[in-house]
Amino acid sequence: MSSAVPTVVRATPERAEELKEALAEIRQRVEAASAKAATPRTSPVLVAVSKYKPASDILACYDDGQRDFGENYVQELVDKAAQLPQDIRWHFIGTLQSNKAKILASIPNLYAIQTVSSTKGASALNKALPASRPTPLNVLLQVNTSGEDAKSGVPPLSAGSPPTALPDAEVDGSELVQLARHVLAECPRLRLQGLMTIGSLQESLAAQEKPNEDFARLVATRDALQAALARAGFPPESGAWGEDGRLLLSMGMSSDFEAALAAGSDIVRVGTGIFGARPKKEEVKSH
Ligand SMILES: *Cc1c(COP(=O)(O)O)cnc(C)c1O
Repeated sequence: MSSAVPTVVRATPERAEELKEALAEIRQRVEAASAKAATPRTSPVLVAVSKYKPASDILACYDDGQRDFGENYVQELVDKAAQLPQDIRWHFIGTLQSNKAKILASIPNLYAIQTVSSTKGASALNKALPASRPTPLNVLLQVNTSGEDAKSGVPPLSAGSPPTALPDAEVDGSELVQLARHVLAECPRLRLQGLMTIGSLQESLAAQEKPNEDFARLVATRDALQAALARAGFPPESGAWGEDGRLLLSMGMSSDFEAALAAGSDIVRVGTGIFGARPKKEEVKSH
């Protein structure tokens, strides 16, 4: 890698102003929604999802104090990380392929991978991380709370409506508990930080009036996982987990982050709400 950092073209003043206003609005909505949560969060993390958006947009948000950014595509993340300030915290939120672990692990300011869903993927990451990395890499385990085939992730540990935890024996033998134990016991360069879900998107207003059960399913899954880890002799890792000693939850996107925060989310991932509409995947040839 060349040491000369290419200079990022600046956004126009109009675009920078537009992004600043959008960020201010989203930040304000995040604060308001989290204040209403049953267990209010002092500072939920807002990850600005910048996939398909130019580095100039990211820099404009950075200049407004934004530090957490999310990307879905490995090469796009590598290219952006090389051009942008080193104190950005990059969150990888795309599908994790084991054969891409090495290139992801080479990004020095990669802060978290939110989409770990297999022991193979976790091991590949652990192996790929340089020994020189000062801190372990945060990982979140992806849970498929909506059960849709198109979404990745391991099955949740709760069922029913409202969601309640599965019986202990089932929880203890579950894929999620096995995966969490694998990360804790076998992957010293990874730090289990929490759980992530996408959930079903509730399009209609009528649906939005009802709480999204996928968020409740992730909350119940986190509680069941932590109980199972305690039974297996893994105490909460202070520092890595939330203020209250619980694994963090990453849930909520542009269309549903307020509901997610009300349900207890710690990390929301907002793209369109900050940067505006994205081109459709099919329209972006380079991916
Ligand atoms: C693209 C993406 C987001 C952001 O979606 P918006 O609806 O634009 O806010 C959040 N999470 C994941 C996993 C994504 O792929």
